[in-house]
Amino acid sequence: MTDAHCHVSAEDPSVREFLIGRDFFGVHPQDSGCADVAEELAALEARLEGSPCAGVGEIGLDRLLVREVSPAMQGLFEAQLALAVRFGRPVVLHGAKCWGRVVEAVRRLAGGGIPFLCHGFSRSGGLVPEIVELGGYFSVGPAILNDHAVNYRELAKRLPCERLMVETDRTADNAADCPSVRAVLEKLAEVRGVPADELERATDANADEFLGGHRPAGSKT
Ligand SMILES: [Zn+2]
Repeated sequence: MTDAHCHVSAEDPSVREFLIGRDFFGVHPQDSGCADVAEELAALEARLEGSPCAGVGEIGLDRLLVREVSPAMQGLFEAQLALAVRFGRPVVLHGAKCWGRVVEAVRRLAGGGIPFLCHGFSRSGGLVPEIVELGGYFSVGPAILNDHAVNYRELAKRLPCERLMVETDRTADNAADCPSVRAVLEKLAEVRGVPADELERATDANADEFLGGHRPAGSKT
């Protein structure tokens, strides 16, 4: 079982976690305003040099809190993406209300050269073929458990099996009531009408492929 995106460990030895801040490093778009960009980029570069299995993320763009993407946010995202390309590392992307722009930058700067994961992807399916073509993966999160999330379930049903993962996005703030990644996987299997063990094998294999065969440092299983 693989949780493809979390910030805080669930401490479940049966779950491999792609942990932001442990084996993925980067400046989140919501922190881009307060960062000393040159310093952050130098720190990221040093971390990637020192951790041959580490990926970059989560990085991206965000319009949940701000109306428009600032040049600083765009610049920091692109600089981090360029580092991922230079080091050949997998990238975890955040694109709240900005997926079109995020994918445009991936096409321009990475052009299919590195695997990337669209974490929390909830946009309608129009962008899916382009993301697949560029080497992208999708992780389905706890929103799938919400019976009112009709559109999200429709999207989750149609995402291609060979690019699918599951995630919790567990943080220090939501850890107390964050569902387990197994609950997410079981609901997704139900929504897609496939056996859960089959979906577990597929999502684990996709996670391996995403990492390019590397096992993240500190991985438990
Ligand atoms: Zn996150």
